[in-house]
Amino acid sequence: MKGVAAEIGWASRGACRTSDPELFFPLASSAEQVRRAKAICGACQVISECRAYALRAGEREGIWGGLTPEERRRSRFPQGWRGTAAS
Ligand code: SF4
Repeated sequence: MKGVAAEIGWASRGACRTSDPELFFPLASSAEQVRRAKAICGACQVISECRAYALRAGEREGIWGGLTPEERRRSRFPQGWRGTAAS
């Protein structure tokens, strides 16, 4: 069985590993905190792996792969998805 540590082995190469965790998992989010976290993600060599993992795992908190929780929700459920399912 593949463990979580193996599944996120790429995280040891993440640009955020030496950053303040509060930037990525804030108690109260702000536009400035999101901007700073996304700037770090933008220079990260494992952004694709990180984003794919967060979407696959349904991570609800924090910034992963340069996406906020709301952005991840939107990418899983694109605008109008309810309308197309009912028609
Ligand atoms: S993409 Fe962002 S959250 Fe993911 S490992 Fe890189 S810096 Fe960290």
